[in-house]
Amino acid sequence: MTLEIVTIPCLADNYAFLLRDQETGKVALVDAPESYPIQKALQDKGWKLDMVLLTHHHNDHVDGLPELVEEYHPQVIGAKADANRLPPLDLALNEGDTFTVGESEGYIIDVSGHTIGHIAFHFPYANAVFTADSLMALGCGRLFEGTPEMMWASLSKLAALPTDTIVYSGHEYTASNAKFALTVDPGNSALKARAADITARRSKGIPTVPSTLADELATNPFLRAHLPEMKTAVGVEGATDVEVFTAIRKQKDNY
Ligand code: ZN
Ligand code: FE
Repeated sequence: MTLEIVTIPCLADNYAFLLRDQETGKVALVDAPESYPIQKALQDKGWKLDMVLLTHHHNDHVDGLPELVEEYHPQVIGAKADANRLPPLDLALNEGDTFTVGESEGYIIDVSGHTIGHIAFHFPYANAVFTADSLMALGCGRLFEGTPEMMWASLSKLAALPTDTIVYSGHEYTASNAKFALTVDPGNSALKARAADITARRSKGIPTVPSTLADELATNPFLRAHLPEMKTAVGVEGATDVEVFTAIRKQKDNY
């Protein structure tokens, strides 16, 4: 039960991912920001598209879908809670529901916050989670629809996955996320090392997505709101974890 995963840059700074189940050759796509780079990647690999997994309703994650549906007729999977805003779904799923790409089993985690009805796709046997605009490399999505409480609960679920899980998020925002992270967690040596690595990668045009959950736990300020040093850093000592998360999110919004 192994997945070959291909990262596809789309639009200005989005990522889509192709997942091919090695046993059966079944191929799934996570998000469809635009069709051309995805069609091109499928052609280059000689793959067909069997399924599309949609994380949330925003245009930069679904706009490429109609052309892919027309060409490949994939099964389209998304959140039942958001079925009225998503493109037509063939399979609408809730948190905890399972689905399969060939023989690779995935399950749904509700990660509402950026939008209500945002889901992540976790493949435990492949050590992979597709988080789009919930947990991002060194950041998290803006709270367009949900509350800080919702996003903190969503991030806490992702934080509880095995630390060697690979996190496939939806955007190349990592360099600017690193600049901000250093302002709230300047004494974090793992963060300083990661920021330097990010600068080096971006100067060569190398993606910083995916990342590992272990690295996110060590350096992503939005996953670290429960730690005493973060409470001190944001100047809300004695505050709850959610209050610290809220303060960090507000600082980032105004950064
Ligand atoms: Zn979004
Ligand atoms: Fe997005």
